[in-house]
Amino acid sequence: MSDDVKRIALVTGASSGIGKVCAVELAKEGFTVIINYYPVPPCEADANNVVKEIENIGGKAKAIGCDVTNSNAVNGMVDEIVKEFGRIDVLVNNAGITRDGLLIRMSDDDWEKVVATNFNSVFYVTRPIAKVMMKQRSGNIINMASITGVYGNAGQANYASTKAGVIGFTKTIAKELASRGIVANAIAPGFIETPMTEKLDKEKIASNIPLGRLGKPEDIADVVKFLAKPNLYITGQVIGVDGGLVI
Ligand code: NAP
Repeated sequence: MSDDVKRIALVTGASSGIGKVCAVELAKEGFTVIINYYPVPPCEADANNVVKEIENIGGKAKAIGCDVTNSNAVNGMVDEIVKEFGRIDVLVNNAGITRDGLLIRMSDDDWEKVVATNFNSVFYVTRPIAKVMMKQRSGNIINMASITGVYGNAGQANYASTKAGVIGFTKTIAKELASRGIVANAIAPGFIETPMTEKLDKEKIASNIPLGRLGKPEDIADVVKFLAKPNLYITGQVIGVDGGLVI
């Protein structure tokens, strides 16, 4: 790839929280960033604001609405990106939800929605993009897991299972795709201050974190930027970003 071709990054669920900050930070690194958002009006407006924020700092971004739990819609999104930009260098599988509850009270719907959003989506989005990256013979895939996927968490049987699945998926595709110059790594955040954690008792949580505070989306974006580097000699790894919570 010549130096005048911009590197392209896709961040799913980039209209808020961790995804938004990762998108802005990747744009600062010179990436053209595709801001994927859940296709409903509030998210569309949020995603357009992320595009504006990036353009205001001289970067380039495009918002694409697509429900990542819908395989056909995902294929359409990937086709649209490839048609306009010709390549995809970095994929950040970030979209995710929680529907917490104790196992014996968890509904089928709470199980299935979390599995669809946090786990099936990672498969649906990675599959067509892996084909694009294989042709390029390069690419960096970054999957947002969670420390709960490694250690479990009472009240999150659905969520923790999906994040454990994401870790297994990451290690497997790292092995499958390495010979084509593609790396795949996962990030396992602890507690990060975003809309997802806004209802939690932050003071109580912080008292159990060795570094004494919850993480910020910027703490995750720092690691995303590192894992997005070309010619990375790291693959199949799970990087904990949790302030020492699970030492
Ligand atoms: P967030 O602010 O709620 O962001 C999640 C994003 O995903 C939202 O923009 C959401 O859109 C989007 N999304 C949900 N379903 C989608 C779908 N079907 N299609 C497209 N986009 C969809 O939460 P966050 O804390 O930034 O979480 C980002 C990732 O980090 C998640 O995978 C989460 O599991 C992981 N994580 C977070 C923490 C934490 O402490 N915050 C810890 C460990 C792991 P809507 O706004 O429409 O829902």
